[in-house]
Amino acid sequence: MPSVAVRLPARKKKYEIKIGPDLLSKLGHEARTVLGPNAQRAALISNPVVFKHYGERARQSLKAGNFKTTHWLMPEGEQHKSLESLAKALEFLTESGLERGDVVVSLGGGVVGDLAGFAAATYLRGIAFLQVPTTLLAQIDASVGGKTAVNLAAGKNLVGAFHQPRLVIIDPQTLTTLPGRELTSGWCEAVKQGAVGNPKLFAQTRRLLNNCGADFGLCLENEASQTEVSAIIAAHCRFKAQIVAGDEREDIGRTDHRSRRILNFGHTTAHALEKLTGYRRFRHGEAVGYGILVAGEISKNIGMLASEELESLRDTVRLCGPLPAAHDLSISEIIAAMSGDKKSVAGVTMWVLLERIGRARVVDGKQIDKRILRSSLRSGLQAIS
Ligand code: NAD
Repeated sequence: MPSVAVRLPARKKKYEIKIGPDLLSKLGHEARTVLGPNAQRAALISNPVVFKHYGERARQSLKAGNFKTTHWLMPEGEQHKSLESLAKALEFLTESGLERGDVVVSLGGGVVGDLAGFAAATYLRGIAFLQVPTTLLAQIDASVGGKTAVNLAAGKNLVGAFHQPRLVIIDPQTLTTLPGRELTSGWCEAVKQGAVGNPKLFAQTRRLLNNCGADFGLCLENEASQTEVSAIIAAHCRFKAQIVAGDEREDIGRTDHRSRRILNFGHTTAHALEKLTGYRRFRHGEAVGYGILVAGEISKNIGMLASEELESLRDTVRLCGPLPAAHDLSISEIIAAMSGDKKSVAGVTMWVLLERIGRARVVDGKQIDKRILRSSLRSGLQAIS
């Protein structure tokens, strides 16, 4: 079973991400091993969609691990990653009688993980948190790094905390029920991580997409592919864990090719597309798919990235699945939406661009000619429609 250690040197701590088919059934045992004999209660936070598929198995496993188990289901959807839901989650923890030595367990995608993690970070000034991510995006990205948050009306993830889990359990079999668009969204984030991470991770991701992309569900039924899927999820977690270990809290002064900032590759355009369409047209990863292409186009147009590398990026994003159309959106409005991005520093949009696949560079938006930006947006947003 692959396992990835996430080291947090600043706090002399580490935790494990364990990955393997049917690991959900061992949740209770794994939790007990990490938390020791004193933890008594496990408060499970999920949503109705995920709980219907996996809730009972998670509950039974926690009970078998000798935890008194309660559960609360937050409503489905990003709009419920809110202060109102946080208040309800905290009430649930109080009603469950959770004490300092107990644990909050999240079972779901990034929305559930971010909210449950923030509840665990704030309840009794912070109690143990254990994550069971069930979307591809959450398995390779959101569950690694300890960022927890809720949204405000003014924007996404504006209130939150860094709170590292004690353990992450990834059961790739949970992906068999994931809708196609959610898979595409996760794959786009995987392509992003490969593109800024290293050529090997990129090639490995592309190979799996080539082999399984069209019918990922079938791939998960076959033992050899299951092993390959677990290995690739592990490779992505390992990559993100390395970045997090070197820059746990995303130091805004850092712009080097191993800073946490590079994970924002594709996100300048993605956030603008999401904002402009009221967060309704694109799943986040789908918008990142376009963002990768736009950043790739800029990189090529300023002479930083070779044309063949851009071609390779384009082919790989295409393998992730169809993306909702973006060519009808106004370029001027996209650029206007970029200027308010929360990833900007002192009002300047910062772009993560590519020198080559596997090596990113953070570039001040002022250095990018407006005509290049417009033409790159035009070409990037045409590509997959
Ligand atoms: P999500 O949590 O909204 O899940 C997507 C959909 O899939 C939901 O409808 C959910 O109910 C359903 N679902 C989840 N698992 C399923 C399964 N196994 N089978 C069937 N349906 C399933 O979306 P997401 O893409 O996982 O997460 C997006 C969120 O993650 C955003 O809020 C984003 O801000 C956050 N995020 C956080 C980090 C971080 O570092 N903390 C990183 C990236 C994204």
